Amino acid sequence: MSNSVDHLADGVGTLHPELLADADPDAIVHNGKRLDHAEGASKPLKSKPEPQPRRAKIHGNRPVDQAEAAARFIAAPEHEKMHDERLWDLRQKRDREMHGIAEWEELRSLASAIKEHTLTRLDEYLEQFEANARSNGITVHWARDAAEHNQIVHGVLNDHGAKTLIKSKSMLTEECGFRPYMASVGIEVIETDLGERIQQLDNEDPSHVVVPAVHKLRTDVAEVFSNTIGTDPANSDVHYLAESQRQATRPLILGADAGMTGCNFAVAETGTFVVCTNEGNADLSANVPKLHIASIGIEKIIPRLEHLAVFVRLLSRSALGSPMTQYTSHFRGPRAGGEMHIVLVDNGRSERLGLHEFWTSLKCIRCGACMNTCPVYRRSGGLSYGATYSGPIGLIIDPTFNARKYSNLPFASSLNGSCSNVCPVKINIHEQIYAWRRELVKQHEVPLVKKVAMKAAGELLSRPAAYRAAIATADAALAHLPRFVIYNGLNAWGKHREVPHPPAQTFHSWYQANRGEKP
Ligand code: SF4
Repeated sequence: MSNSVDHLADGVGTLHPELLADADPDAIVHNGKRLDHAEGASKPLKSKPEPQPRRAKIHGNRPVDQAEAAARFIAAPEHEKMHDERLWDLRQKRDREMHGIAEWEELRSLASAIKEHTLTRLDEYLEQFEANARSNGITVHWARDAAEHNQIVHGVLNDHGAKTLIKSKSMLTEECGFRPYMASVGIEVIETDLGERIQQLDNEDPSHVVVPAVHKLRTDVAEVFSNTIGTDPANSDVHYLAESQRQATRPLILGADAGMTGCNFAVAETGTFVVCTNEGNADLSANVPKLHIASIGIEKIIPRLEHLAVFVRLLSRSALGSPMTQYTSHFRGPRAGGEMHIVLVDNGRSERLGLHEFWTSLKCIRCGACMNTCPVYRRSGGLSYGATYSGPIGLIIDPTFNARKYSNLPFASSLNGSCSNVCPVKINIHEQIYAWRRELVKQHEVPLVKKVAMKAAGELLSRPAAYRAAIATADAALAHLPRFVIYNGLNAWGKHREVPHPPAQTFHSWYQANRGEKP
């Protein structure tokens, strides 16, 4: 795939020019029109805005129907096309940055090794971090789960009589259901990250770990702002929208009683922590009010300050394809006359650490690169997953929280391995997705139809003679099958795909004919 994004503007989608050549012998043509894969087949943008597709429907503990929500997203072609291209653009920028660093693969290996080393001695490093943070004047709390986290923060806010809290983006607080909890106890939370604030005002979760409102068109944002802060609904100019939000939020920030941040890295040897943002909003949250609370997942620990350089070089390049985040802020202790609290949160991490096949998912630094490259994520939108974490990393984290509710997610992948290839800490994501499928079958969390179909496929694949006979019949059937058999309203598979032409000869028959021996 070309590294250039210039061809995005020419109206032919993102296909490499080579793949558009008229002479392509493998082109699939239907009704005189070439059918390309989904990137090429993305519909052109219409001038009339379409409603924004909404999140997956949640019904208690029932499995989230990601496919249903994804189908609604795909049925909104302006959103689908914009989302696909915007994220693919990030992926291409990431590739350009990667090629600019000769030791990129060594950095990835080093980052992976540091994380694995730390995770296997997590208890020691956490205690070291706690002792050093306390000696820096920070109050350290431990939270077993989301409920404890929320109660601890509530307690600290109560002790200070705080009624308003400004907060920078944190996936951990999303995981803990922090905003709804605070609303239930009468404390107003104001998100300071622009994307996250858009999502808050629209009463939606973030759809991406780095760019929370990436699924929205400008016109969607204009609608949200006109409904909530009174902007002109017809004006979707990005500068107008951003400035309007700044004017609306700034007084809330300046008058807030307390500030909250997440954390990207917590350094054991110094008891300090680092927050990376591009808007400087974490610095406002941490420095404007006198009380600063930081929520830190226990997997964020790294042993020494020198290790930070490895991750800082990888993080922004992998996330947005930029060499650095605009702000890499180090927090060492409370400001003069202020207080700083840290809440170290487990919320299922210790349990995940004990899962033989899945513990390395704790290496994740939440860069979002696996989401940007994933063909399923790019075309279905983060909200279709109905979970805090979406995309490939979500497929392997969400089931650890609730295997039944998120039992469909590990099947929302083509297992192409691109996620593992771009992961800066070398998590074997696609292998873990596959392992989750096996695990869900073991736990009887897979629908009966899928189980029966897989069993039948297993039987067929384990009998070479039967398999070859079936393939020969299938080839003949596919060649003469009327279209409606596959492309009908009852067959979800055929809604967005074309069956490729069967080859004239299978590899097996070619091998027999040309080599005269069994493979
Ligand atoms: S799994 Fe890897 S690529 Fe995906 S968000 Fe985490 S660190 Fe980034």
